[in-house]
Amino acid sequence: MKSGNSFIALGGAQSVGASSYFVKIDNRSFLFDCGRGISDGITLGPNMGVLLQEECINSLSQLDQIFISHGHFDHVGYLPDLLAMNAISSVIASPTTKELGKYLMSDGSEKQLQGLSDDKRQIYNQRLQGAFAKVQTIPLNITQQFEDYQVTLFEAGHIPGAVMTFVETSTKKILYTGDFLTNPTLLTKGYCLPKGVKPDLLVLCGLHAMHPQYQPVRIENISVSYMSICLQKKQSVFLSIKQLTKGLEVIQLLNMRMEKGLIPEARIYVDSVLWRIADSFSIVGQSVLTQRCHRIQEKNIDKNLGIYIGTGKMEKYFAHVIKFDFSLHASYSDIVKLIKDTIPSQVMVVHTGSPRNDDNSALISEFCDIEIKFCKSENRYSI
Ligand SMILES: [Zn+2]
Ligand SMILES: [Zn+2]
Repeated sequence: MKSGNSFIALGGAQSVGASSYFVKIDNRSFLFDCGRGISDGITLGPNMGVLLQEECINSLSQLDQIFISHGHFDHVGYLPDLLAMNAISSVIASPTTKELGKYLMSDGSEKQLQGLSDDKRQIYNQRLQGAFAKVQTIPLNITQQFEDYQVTLFEAGHIPGAVMTFVETSTKKILYTGDFLTNPTLLTKGYCLPKGVKPDLLVLCGLHAMHPQYQPVRIENISVSYMSICLQKKQSVFLSIKQLTKGLEVIQLLNMRMEKGLIPEARIYVDSVLWRIADSFSIVGQSVLTQRCHRIQEKNIDKNLGIYIGTGKMEKYFAHVIKFDFSLHASYSDIVKLIKDTIPSQVMVVHTGSPRNDDNSALISEFCDIEIKFCKSENRYSI
């Protein structure tokens, strides 16, 4: 086994999906996230084999700790398989991710289950339940001591339960951001990092790290005037959402705008997958379902006036369809601010993505004293 501090992106380097980042430091082996990606109907996991080829570890059971940043499929989707096949001692996540992770990841897990036999579905579900049962939680903002290293989780602001992970060994400090957001949303407060957090290595999920000109759309700026016109004309409208967590934000937005009288009072019909997640949020005391929310019954879709929310497949029933999308990721300027605030000596930028006018020179030239790498998948870097 090779010694020396190293970093390898096993998946989700310059793409979204299969996020999994290995860090070896002071002979401790850590894995930050363990996701899956879906491309052209095929689900891909991270390439764990690289760790054995590169002789970072002799077996996956030697991983000291797996940290899960949040419940999205691209960050946790591979965990059930990894734990089912390997004797891994410890997985850490926030209490909310442990409670809600199996629901939050259903964007991807539902796709992964499509076309599988009942037996295979059952095995998958058992692995899923088993994986989340093994997750240990630590409360946010309280440093936990583990043998010869310390761990603190901080609010990442991206979705409920999402955290930044700060690991301190005797010689190095590492901050893994996971997906993060600066602005508050309707369900989160934005990331919250104390001033004293000064990592040597920053592993940064920078979806917009190559998009200096791009201003992501925020939910509070979304116009609802078209929806109001439809309702005034007594016509239903379908809001097509791309991701389930965003659907929860939309339900919250509609409730708030109806309470303020900005949209006519109407029933909100929620599709069954989204309903299951929304309902699960009551476990952590953050329910978005109000009296005006109802579960969509497919047979009654066109009979009841209201606002319908779901993923695309119900569009065909509606004359008025609004594709609702907004961003839950930090903008380029937010990324610059995070680096300025934490002044690391090394930054590994991962999880970059569309819109594709990719140019990493802007961020690199912004910081001449900091080594910034847009790291390649499966490449070993010294840290
Ligand atoms: Zn995410
Ligand atoms: Zn992500």
